[in-house]
Amino acid sequence: MALMPVSDALAAVLAGAEPLPEAMVSLNEAYHRVLARDVPALRTQPPEAMSAMDGYAVRASDATKLDSTLTLIGEVAAGRPFAGTLGPGEAVRIFTGGVIPNGADAVVIQEDTVADGKRITIKEAAIAGRHIRPAGVDFSEGDVLLRKGTRLTERDLALAAAMNHPQLAVCRRPKVAILATGDELVMPGTTPAHGQIVYSNGYALHALARSEGADTIDLGIAADTLEATTAGIRRARESGAEILVTSGGASVGDHDLVQQALRDEGIAMAFWKIAMRPGKPMMHGRLGAMRVIGLPGNPVSSYVCAFLFLVPLIRALSGRSMIHHRQERAVLGRDVDANDMRADYLRAHLETRDDGTLVALPVKHQDSSLLANLAAAQALLVRAPFAPKAEAGSPCEVLRLPV
Ligand code: AMP
Ligand code: MG
Repeated sequence: MALMPVSDALAAVLAGAEPLPEAMVSLNEAYHRVLARDVPALRTQPPEAMSAMDGYAVRASDATKLDSTLTLIGEVAAGRPFAGTLGPGEAVRIFTGGVIPNGADAVVIQEDTVADGKRITIKEAAIAGRHIRPAGVDFSEGDVLLRKGTRLTERDLALAAAMNHPQLAVCRRPKVAILATGDELVMPGTTPAHGQIVYSNGYALHALARSEGADTIDLGIAADTLEATTAGIRRARESGAEILVTSGGASVGDHDLVQQALRDEGIAMAFWKIAMRPGKPMMHGRLGAMRVIGLPGNPVSSYVCAFLFLVPLIRALSGRSMIHHRQERAVLGRDVDANDMRADYLRAHLETRDDGTLVALPVKHQDSSLLANLAAAQALLVRAPFAPKAEAGSPCEVLRLPV
């Protein structure tokens, strides 16, 4: 297969990716879940005019002159409204969140009064409407303030509660099964024998998938045999995963068996090999309902491909309305060479100059095995296929990496 342009590959990965079915969850469970429906306010907030301060509810016209005196006729606290109506020359003691009594149209704050038994002397003229939160100033019944496709923040949860929703309809989390391949891989904390490599890809993949709202299933490390790779793929299907992510074994070497195993299992292969660096040997296809993303084994390639393709796929299945990474403008912090037919995703440091300009400084060594500079990078500098040589100071595009 020919190298596929990144945008075509992304379109293929996202083709037909619909939000998973919805379920009701409590507000505490809804944090960072994605709304499956628009959420209308079930009530008006505040439902009636309420005091924003502690003080006295008055008729503004009675209290415009300094040293006017009013007669105290009652008290309102939050949750305990005043039953009567305020007449001329009267005041009602009121506390924050208290319902403004009938007849009152202003609140004089406590600090601007002198109280002597039932006599309240005004020390600062009242202004109609002052210190009053009108009914519906926050929202009105029926207002749709949270939209389908929103990933709920902690602030959204407070708003949903205030709108009187004890539960919210959210999309089910996608299940992502992760299968590593490689005879050479050993777990961190063990003593690698000669030629062995410490397994690292899976840690980034699990964390990235989970931070995007997926549930992950760890299928461990398959040996470089067709049988072991096939067994891993079958376990992914049995787990009911919507997505299988494999890492390693994706190239053309004698021990790169992932594609063979997937084909034997009947995959409908959408593409193999993308016009990008790192990450050229990535593959994608469908095994029944399960979407397969076959990542290259090199740690940086595996991460960059997961960031570019797995993340949007998880977002789409999660029901999010914003599925794409936002590309930002920056200027180059150093000269870069012309590109060949592949797009480059260069690990880069970001700096903000005093004038606010964002500067992207690609690291020197871009070998796809170098994890230290991936961890230290703040962004990927995107270079289009055949982009000409560019000098320091010229505009460029970056994708910020998660923090
Ligand atoms: P492969 O694509 O299987 O040929 O792997 C390419 C390179 O990535 C080899 O040097 C592998 O040892 C390394 N590699 C593959 N999988 C992992 C992994 N899960 N963690 C760390 N390195 C890996
Ligand atoms: Mg391998």
